[in-house]
Amino acid sequence: MEVKKALFLISNADVTKCPAPDRPEYAFTGRSNVGKSSLINMLVQDKSLAKISGNPGKTRLINHFLINDFWYLVDLPGYGYAKVSKKERKKFNTLIRQYILTRENLYCLFVLIDIRHEPQKIDLEFIHWLGISRIPFAMVFTKADKLKPQEADKNVADYSRKLSETWEELPPFFVSSAAKGLGRKEILDYIQQINESN
Ligand code: GDP
Repeated sequence: MEVKKALFLISNADVTKCPAPDRPEYAFTGRSNVGKSSLINMLVQDKSLAKISGNPGKTRLINHFLINDFWYLVDLPGYGYAKVSKKERKKFNTLIRQYILTRENLYCLFVLIDIRHEPQKIDLEFIHWLGISRIPFAMVFTKADKLKPQEADKNVADYSRKLSETWEELPPFFVSSAAKGLGRKEILDYIQQINESN
């Protein structure tokens, strides 16, 4: 799929004020600094969208974009943001979880993981929660250009092994680099495939 048109629609701190759930929706989340804005920018190839999602005022909100007049791309707040108070963190987590649990048109949630790191408790717990909540999700290992290909493969394999301890079937995963445009076609084709099968 090619992104021919990308339009910023609305930012929200209130799940009930999100656009009507009348289109296929794909959301992106992960720990802050994981490369979410860069990935979204790379996918839609529009710097002005990245500016919106990189704007500190918007990073704690749910940002809706309309792609190709057909589907919604949603930039969710990053979780586990270390620089804010526990109370604030709890507020974002509640917002993210509320969005995930109530958004009936959410076809796939992309969970971003920095490919350089070992599996982190906060991500594993979040993924576990997605599983028990029966949320369709896929994983995106970001910043692949920061590792040698063999190291990247090893880290992905280690992650898969870790997930296999609790999961019978592994979620789909993608390896990406916003710097190199890696994973763009695969992620967009995956979205198209889901759009076409619904
Ligand atoms: P966010 O907080 O998750 O939205 O993360 P950003 O997209 O703002 O990225 C955080 C930092 O990682 C920035 O300094 C980016 O330039 C850098 N970054 C993001 N993606 C990549 C990537 O694919 N490759 C490299 N080398 N750096 C990246």
